[in-house]
Amino acid sequence: MEKIGKNYKVSSTGNIQELGRVTLHEQLALTGSEVSVNELPAGVSVPFVHAHKRNEEVYVIVYGKGSFYIDGDEFGVEAGDVLRIDPAGERCIKADAQSSLRFICIQAEAKSLVQFTQNDGVPCEAKPSWL
Ligand code: ZN
Repeated sequence: MEKIGKNYKVSSTGNIQELGRVTLHEQLALTGSEVSVNELPAGVSVPFVHAHKRNEEVYVIVYGKGSFYIDGDEFGVEAGDVLRIDPAGERCIKADAQSSLRFICIQAEAKSLVQFTQNDGVPCEAKPSWL
């Protein structure tokens, strides 16, 4: 599906079960964050450790089991776990030998969030057909 409105854009990533890694920055014309949907096959590791200059990262583990390395700490993660890593955190991710690891990674500039949900949401008069 592809749909562009005055204040939104909808796009398909295709079969989300077979993505590998898809970044949504260009696909959705993101302006305040980078979002990627990732799948590491069983036993596969990201082949490097990395940190960031300005962006913190949030990882949402949506399927499987794996391991994180952060600043020398190594620990297991599984579906339902969420992580936030400071820009300077030196990180690497690996899927368990028996299970692929599917996760969403959201990058945004650290300390840039000035308001959210309760303070940023504004009620509108418009209503969808189902209300
Ligand atoms: Zn990163």
